[in-house]
Amino acid sequence: MDSNCIFCKIINKEIPSKLIYEDNDFFAMLDIAPATKGHVLILPKEHASTLTDLSDDKASKILVLAKKIIVAMKKVHGFTDYNIVQNNGELAGQTVSHYHLHLIPRYSKGELGLWTPHEGDPSVTDENAEAVRNLLK
Ligand code: 5GP
Ligand code: ZN
Repeated sequence: MDSNCIFCKIINKEIPSKLIYEDNDFFAMLDIAPATKGHVLILPKEHASTLTDLSDDKASKILVLAKKIIVAMKKVHGFTDYNIVQNNGELAGQTVSHYHLHLIPRYSKGELGLWTPHEGDPSVTDENAEAVRNLLK
């Protein structure tokens, strides 16, 4: 628990939210400013800022939970398509520094722009790619 974190306060029920799901590890709620109807946020209860701060245990469980919640949301809201988005850091659009997964239903084309393909060539060198590969060996 980080006493300055709004999502920790929500998990702790100090701040109200529209609860969707809760267990020992996770908390899911409706986004206060939904991108589309039914937009849900899943938060691990342990405070971690970004993916690399999150424990492997929670990181490995969260997508399984996302799948379960999406199945229920689909039945209620009647969508088939959706985005799962997760922003890490300010440059990536993260505004709340408590790791969270966005589950965003999609109902029609063009209702939401998440990103556009980069103009030009943001390429890495072969050396860069090899350096990353080597760190993963
Ligand atoms: P981020 O930009 O960090 O990826 O996403 C933060 C999300 O949290 C935004 O979609 C924003 O609408 C949502 N949010 C911010 N404050 C609150 C809040 O107090 N309650 C709820 N339910 N959602 C919030
Ligand atoms: Zn927190």
